[in-house]
Amino acid sequence: MATKKIKISFEQLRCLRDSTVFGAAKWSFSATVDGQKIGDAKKRFTVKPGTLVSLGWSHEVDVSGKKGGEFVEVVFRAEEHGVLFKPDQGTVRLKFHYPFQRELEHVFFGSPGGIISKTQNFMLSVRMEITDADDTAPDMSGVPTGKKGAGDTVTTVAGTGLVPRVEISPVVPVLQGDQVPPRPDFDAIVPHGKDTKAAKPIKLAGSLDLNALPNPALIPVIKPTENDFKKRCARLSVTHIRPHNADTSQLRWVVKKGPVQFHGETKGREEVLAYGTAESDEPAEIELRWGDPEGPLLCKFRAWVGKVKYIPTRATLVVGSTIGATPRCTPADIHRHIQLANILMYQSGLLLVPDHETETWDGAKASVGNPGVYTIKTNDNTLTIGVNDNIPPHPMRLNFRPGAMHLVYIKSLSSAGAAGVAVDRPKLLGAYESIEGTPSTSWVPPTGVAPDKASKKVTMKTMPASDPRTSKKDQDYLKARKKLDPGFPDDAFQSLYGCIMPDYTPPNDEDWPQTLAHEVGHVLGLRHRGNPQTDPANGKVGSNDEVNGNGGKGHPWLENVMSYGYTQSQDFDLLQTRVIRKHPSVIDEIPKPKPKPKPKPKPANEKLKDLQKRLGVPESGEWDDATEQAASSKMVRNGARGAVVEWVQTQLNAQGMESGTVDGIAGSVTVGAIRRWQDNRDDLTTDGIAGPRTMQTLAES
Ligand SMILES: [Zn+2]
Repeated sequence: MATKKIKISFEQLRCLRDSTVFGAAKWSFSATVDGQKIGDAKKRFTVKPGTLVSLGWSHEVDVSGKKGGEFVEVVFRAEEHGVLFKPDQGTVRLKFHYPFQRELEHVFFGSPGGIISKTQNFMLSVRMEITDADDTAPDMSGVPTGKKGAGDTVTTVAGTGLVPRVEISPVVPVLQGDQVPPRPDFDAIVPHGKDTKAAKPIKLAGSLDLNALPNPALIPVIKPTENDFKKRCARLSVTHIRPHNADTSQLRWVVKKGPVQFHGETKGREEVLAYGTAESDEPAEIELRWGDPEGPLLCKFRAWVGKVKYIPTRATLVVGSTIGATPRCTPADIHRHIQLANILMYQSGLLLVPDHETETWDGAKASVGNPGVYTIKTNDNTLTIGVNDNIPPHPMRLNFRPGAMHLVYIKSLSSAGAAGVAVDRPKLLGAYESIEGTPSTSWVPPTGVAPDKASKKVTMKTMPASDPRTSKKDQDYLKARKKLDPGFPDDAFQSLYGCIMPDYTPPNDEDWPQTLAHEVGHVLGLRHRGNPQTDPANGKVGSNDEVNGNGGKGHPWLENVMSYGYTQSQDFDLLQTRVIRKHPSVIDEIPKPKPKPKPKPKPANEKLKDLQKRLGVPESGEWDDATEQAASSKMVRNGARGAVVEWVQTQLNAQGMESGTVDGIAGSVTVGAIRRWQDNRDDLTTDGIAGPRTMQTLAES
């Protein structure tokens, strides 16, 4: 089959996230295919996060004149208008090589290195398909086959021997262009490489297996007999191979060092399952070899081996008294964000689990069906709107449990644009941590992947502690909590670990779980890996944690959960994993819930008994079904008369609601008093009618 024509289609651009500072902007795009201009460079597109920009551009190319070593080049360029000073947002280049036999789909990412954008994050999909071919054999004289030949190497048609380039990237999605460590030069005739399926991004949505991200920093200790073993053991996967058509049946996985076992077949697999059998203080070493277990070394992969550990987590949603003070996220959204953040955390063998202690404070109500998630309704909207993340009024205190991770969802912060702030970070040291060995802890070149140079020692600066809480409001809160719970520790704020999450993007935005894991990463001791306010391309430091290798070009920080503001940054590396697993909030086992203390018998409620007498039901002193039914049939509304009206008037007066003379006739004064009472309470609807709920609140106040 010789290919005569191919079609290149620019299927779509997906805006992964927007700059909350700049907002939606007008963009234009231009492209060439094989030197031919296509599309409409004058057309303006409005770009919003979470949306697809359909370009609808395609171009057919006659490739019948191409021969071995030649290709069709696609160049795509983006410009932004009217928001940034610099319209040029960068250029993507793609090559489709002779003999054009495969149907390909390429996906590229926007990156601060200039592939698409410095402030936006995109995915571009380009499809190549064959539209015309004939039965003649393509001229393969200049094209290597990539199949295994004599000996342990791939042999090209031209007789050149080579060991394929195989990578097991600890980073998914694998970066593009100059963001990846330099790859060795191959002879130009060696067919191009390919990123495997495992190199593609994971969409943090829906339900994902815990090991959805391959090549984690920690291989969990787990038995193959345990439930969901295949979803919880480590997936180790080849992420790049050149030539793309190398004979992968020759791949051999080998445990070189450490308490690791493979599960299932390890020969000829691009991906294997691995699990730990004991903790290890040193990273285990996995090797991938060619042909047999003693064959040429293709690459190495390192990971810690350890038990899965837990971070008891409670989330508190703070809802104000108006629609404008109500975050869009529901308890179910928060539950989902935590589950998806766990896909990222699990790479370090950590899981955010619902706090096993379920006592609530400050009026927090547990969500049914979303364990660990609580809602506080408040009339003090300063606790949820425009919250200053440095000084009180500060909702972080509400409903916190010393020792648990506290995620507080509010409507907005006073500092616009922040997606989350790790405000409470006690007990951190701000110290340095180092690791060496090959391959590198992360994607800091050189990688240590044969035949590259050995990797270097990597030193990382960790997060310092936040300022202690010493304000008067903090101290007042502490006193109030101690009154309720005499055992509440004086230094409780020293175990308040948490972050504040404003309602900055719709609840389904994939950004939420990434932001959550990022903020938790700060609380656990990690600084930023990369920061777009700096400019590593021009030699400025790109990472607050001082991991800035890559020959002065800056660490390729798009990869890392701790990079600043990029949705699909999903990796925790070996060094970060070591730091965060040491945090005092991390526990080895989830404790069994404490037995609930038996409720003390309540003193008989005389007010309620009086009401029950008037309703003609047994005077139990408890709000029971009989009382509920009787109260429903004798609701106090405008014009009502009788003994129940008298009772309501008496209670309203006792509560200072000014119901006037107690005369057993509900007129406008009584209705006004009912409304005032209802207005004062979050749990009542203001309708001026005293039904069972209103009567119950009056009886129990
Ligand atoms: Zn951050």
